[in-house]
Amino acid sequence: MTTESRRAPATGNDDLKALIRTVADYPIPGIQFRDVSTLLLDGEGFRATIDRLAATIDPATVDLIAGIEARGFIVAAGLSYALRKGKVMLRKQGKLPGQTVGIDYALEYGTDRIEMHQGAVTPGQRIVLVDDLLATGGTALAGAGLLRGQGAIVDTALFIVDLPDLGGATKLRAQGIEPIALISFEGH
Ligand code: AMP
Repeated sequence: MTTESRRAPATGNDDLKALIRTVADYPIPGIQFRDVSTLLLDGEGFRATIDRLAATIDPATVDLIAGIEARGFIVAAGLSYALRKGKVMLRKQGKLPGQTVGIDYALEYGTDRIEMHQGAVTPGQRIVLVDDLLATGGTALAGAGLLRGQGAIVDTALFIVDLPDLGGATKLRAQGIEPIALISFEGH
């Protein structure tokens, strides 16, 4: 990735932020759920989201997009189309029909496991990891670990939303992954 491609959009995404609904105490008390479903309902808003995320990436430096189930798939599909790159699905346990490799990880609430098809990525492929939201970073780090375990190079991760107070961005940077997000919300 070039420095240019790593530059996060500084400001100007308040139009998109306004389209994201906050649902208090979901799925458990104390969580402010940042619900991108209301952004997805807005065609222009979704298109602008994909365009602005795609603009942070130099397609020449990327081989594949990796989307994390489920909302990450929606963002990854848009970016895959915009950047003309293929995409690999990092799925919840038991969803893939072929031989899989997987990794367990801790969530902001609970634990989970993601899997991918064995052989879906080849060693040395440069992969951009994509999800809707970065909170503690556990999901993204699991995705990166899974891909890196197959020999892929993962040094950039894209999100619509970052929750900086949960520390995910710091954890990703510590593992050599630059997180780029269009929007941030303070607090949990
Ligand atoms: P984490 O692994 O803690 O970074 O959590 C990120 C994953 O959990 C993403 O796939 C999000 O969709 C989901 N998630 C975690 N916290 C929230 C939140 N406050 N609002 C919406 N989604 C969240």
